Amino acid sequence: MLSLTFLGTGAACPTVDRNVAALSLQREGETLLFDCGEGSQRQMMRYGVGFSLSEIFFTHYHADHLLGVTGLLRTLGLQDRTAPLTLYGPRGAQRILGAAINLGIERNQFPVEIVELGPGDRLPRDEYDIVVFETDHRADTVGYALVEHTRLGRFDPERARELGVPEGPLWGRLHRGETVALDDGRSVGPHDLVGAPRPGRTVVYSGDTRPHPAVVEAARGADLLVHEATFGGEEAARARETGHSTAAEAAGVAREAGVRRLVLTHISPRYTRDAPELLAEARAVFPETIVARDGMTVEVPFAE
Ligand SMILES: [Zn+2]
Ligand SMILES: [Zn+2]
Repeated sequence: MLSLTFLGTGAACPTVDRNVAALSLQREGETLLFDCGEGSQRQMMRYGVGFSLSEIFFTHYHADHLLGVTGLLRTLGLQDRTAPLTLYGPRGAQRILGAAINLGIERNQFPVEIVELGPGDRLPRDEYDIVVFETDHRADTVGYALVEHTRLGRFDPERARELGVPEGPLWGRLHRGETVALDDGRSVGPHDLVGAPRPGRTVVYSGDTRPHPAVVEAARGADLLVHEATFGGEEAARARETGHSTAAEAAGVAREAGVRRLVLTHISPRYTRDAPELLAEARAVFPETIVARDGMTVEVPFAE
């Protein structure tokens, strides 16, 4: 299972319809949080995202992506959390996230580690990597991609039985690509039993950015791209000035990268909840687009 829940989909300041930036990713029972704008903890409660997370990834330190972390950490402390939490972010992490953690007079009740990241960094995990890439918003802003590792090919149990391979450890070894010796002296290789390796899924979160080649590169062939679309085409000049993208520009990135689906987020307060004009602009360039809404969950299935 891999899904995203949009906790906040608005730009700059909260509105009745949209809270500020936060995106939770659920994968195989694990929850990762990307950005944590003001009020994110209440959005997590409202939309059923558990507090058992252990990592938050920040794209940059504008207030609309950051201010929720102080309150979230206080609440986790009140819940008698003892498990450590790691906060990741681009340059400035120690100073800015450190200040956010220590704001107020309470002492943090559990260990919090702050890890500074930069474009090109890769955090390897058992089944996926978190890849950090450059964005074009302000100095020291980044985006993140979750890139699942390639999975073993499909194992054919019928064929294994036909070949007389007893169910058990030998099946596992064949599945991992080994040739195994049977009791009767025959040896059996995986070519007949195991399909081609299957690609994992890739999910990419741009954070705030102008259209940028590094985002295209990170999103190449991705299953899902979450790209900011703060403005519509009528505000193209303003998007340029403020380091943001229009809906059509975000769709252009999706098209160039050849992603399967695009979700637009970080919508300016000037647009309505459904932002039909942004949707139309983007779909004219890249049809497989939707506009995120607070509370929306998007599943990311395997391509096969
Ligand atoms: Zn923002
Ligand atoms: Zn920003």
